[in-house]
Amino acid sequence: MNEFEAIGYLQRRLGTPVDAADLPLGIGDDAALIATHGAPAMAVCTDTLVAGRHFSADYSAADIGFRALSVNLSDFAAMGVRPQYFQLALTLPNLDAAWLAGFCDGMAALSEPHSLVLAGGDLTGGPLCVSVTLFGATQTHTVLTRTGARVGDRIMVSGQLGGPFLALAARMQGQSADPQCDARLLRPAPRVALGCALAGVANAAIDISDGLVQDLGHICRGSGVAMRVCVDAIPHLAPEDIPLDLRRQAVLAGGEEYELAFTVPAEHATEVRLLAQRIGVPIADIGEVRAADAAHLEPVVQVVDSTGSAVRLEQSGFMHFR
Ligand code: ADP
Ligand code: MG
Repeated sequence: MNEFEAIGYLQRRLGTPVDAADLPLGIGDDAALIATHGAPAMAVCTDTLVAGRHFSADYSAADIGFRALSVNLSDFAAMGVRPQYFQLALTLPNLDAAWLAGFCDGMAALSEPHSLVLAGGDLTGGPLCVSVTLFGATQTHTVLTRTGARVGDRIMVSGQLGGPFLALAARMQGQSADPQCDARLLRPAPRVALGCALAGVANAAIDISDGLVQDLGHICRGSGVAMRVCVDAIPHLAPEDIPLDLRRQAVLAGGEEYELAFTVPAEHATEVRLLAQRIGVPIADIGEVRAADAAHLEPVVQVVDSTGSAVRLEQSGFMHFR
């Protein structure tokens, strides 16, 4: 398989638009043309996966393809934007038809249900690296951001947390991970439907890619507020025999979750619960948005247990170049 055969294959597997009017020019020329149908803004995001850093050698091609789309879809979910197109920059050590087929299977598992079309990209030789850029036309005023949280909002989170952290910890110690935790690590389901339903209802949202407390901190700083979160209210995937401290660390600071954390005006809490039920995504109320402490005597995101005692965290989340 050569470069052009590979691009042709990617085009057939992932790049055929249902309606050509939506993508007047896709793969094949020097740039793609994406129709916006008069939408005032195009949302764009990019996420890159580097072998050895974001996934290990034991990930299958399909797991890598799934993950590369999943982490990007999660960013759009957090904005409440429906994804339409993507660009794929692939750097591969060699061109292997079977590997590419598996990779496309993993991508198609997400692109097909989301009607997401590959519009172009790049293919180069080098250390394995996958970069995806998503596009979605949108109405500016309906987009969810990190800056809209208001004092008194309820803080909510989707899904059950801790799985990816515990699965990674087990893998790093050469042990087999709990299957449920491992599934969340390998096949994180981005919450696109929930995010889009929350647009216009929630005040602020973020996806938990680097750890709940750290990511909630971004909403706090963006919105000029503080938060109080009850650790015992957070649904978790930790098996019963996991020590409490480790479970809390996993839930509060474990990354790679790709769940949504969002804030909702208290009077909309019931509506949001019903809406999540309709979509079939579990959500939980885990705390409230408070006024920022001008003197910064307290951490921005204060964590307590069900008795109200403060919970100390060793690390609030993941950071590159710490
Ligand atoms: P150039 O040499 O001008 O950069 P390429 O030969 O890299 O052009 O790409 C030719 C066409 O194939 C372009 O339309 C580009 O978007 C598309 N393409 C290249 N790599 C990929 C890829 N990994 N996924 C999808 N489309 C690709
Ligand atoms: Mg190129």
